[in-house]
Amino acid sequence: MAIIPFDDRDGVIWYDGALVPWREAKVHVLTHGLHYGSCVFEGERVYNGSVFKLTEHSERLAKSAELLGFQIPWSVAEIDAATRLVVEQTGLKDAYVRPVAWRGSEMMGVSAQHNRIHLAIAVWEWPSYFSPEAKMAGIRLMWAPYRRPAPDTAPTASKAAGLYMICTISKHAAEQQGYQDALMLDYRGLLAEATGANLFLVIDGTIHTPTPDCFLDGITRRTVIDLAKKRGIQVIERPIKPEELASAQEVFLTGTAAEVTPVGQIGDHTFTPGRVCEALIKDYDAAVRSPVWAGTEE
Ligand code: PMP
Repeated sequence: MAIIPFDDRDGVIWYDGALVPWREAKVHVLTHGLHYGSCVFEGERVYNGSVFKLTEHSERLAKSAELLGFQIPWSVAEIDAATRLVVEQTGLKDAYVRPVAWRGSEMMGVSAQHNRIHLAIAVWEWPSYFSPEAKMAGIRLMWAPYRRPAPDTAPTASKAAGLYMICTISKHAAEQQGYQDALMLDYRGLLAEATGANLFLVIDGTIHTPTPDCFLDGITRRTVIDLAKKRGIQVIERPIKPEELASAQEVFLTGTAAEVTPVGQIGDHTFTPGRVCEALIKDYDAAVRSPVWAGTEE
């Protein structure tokens, strides 16, 4: 399959307040965001032409920036409007949205108090690749070589670009050994999350998920917790030890890109995706396509 690089496509990107031709949406090599990781981003999905939980994503973007000590010079409402504008321009009905904010080039040292803050929003086509049946096969995860850092080691509540360094290394290690993803422990050795998705265990009909105190409290995670509760399934958020995987019948991941993805294996533990995975895949699919979201979010 030919890969079309992300810097060589048709269309427009919202860049610092204007729609610019896709190939012209560039940064200089001397950019603080590139050298020092002063960069935050979001990942959003467009279903049937509208962004699922857009305002929650825009709010998280603003909060992520604040945690890195900078303020995006557009309000959450303005970011929402800019996102809708660029989605509308593309005309895509099923797509991925990538807002990114970063410190510019005015100062090129650790200190960058006066750097201009930039914001760009790009949208590209992203159809649903896997049918619910294909998803039920379950993906295979390896244990990640890195752990999620402690909240006093890194700004762990921020969706900061720098925090993805250990995710990319871990995911590459997994792929090189024939796995699809890696499962990361946290700094205490407790279960944390995959490299881009949150983790859930089903133990005797109850859902258990790690407390998000040192990793992203995913928007999909919160959605799925609500959906499970609506079904009358009990959901317990708590610290979970890796050996507890032995008592889980089903395991799944959640994320904007992953949606609800059943897991068939983590290291030596194997699972059989079953009724809970199936139900939540269906419920999530219905939720993202529900007109209610368009009404409440826009
Ligand atoms: N953890 C990490 C590291 C992620 O990159 C993501 C994807 N944004 C998630 C969890 C899930 O978050 P969300 O459901 O908000 O997409």
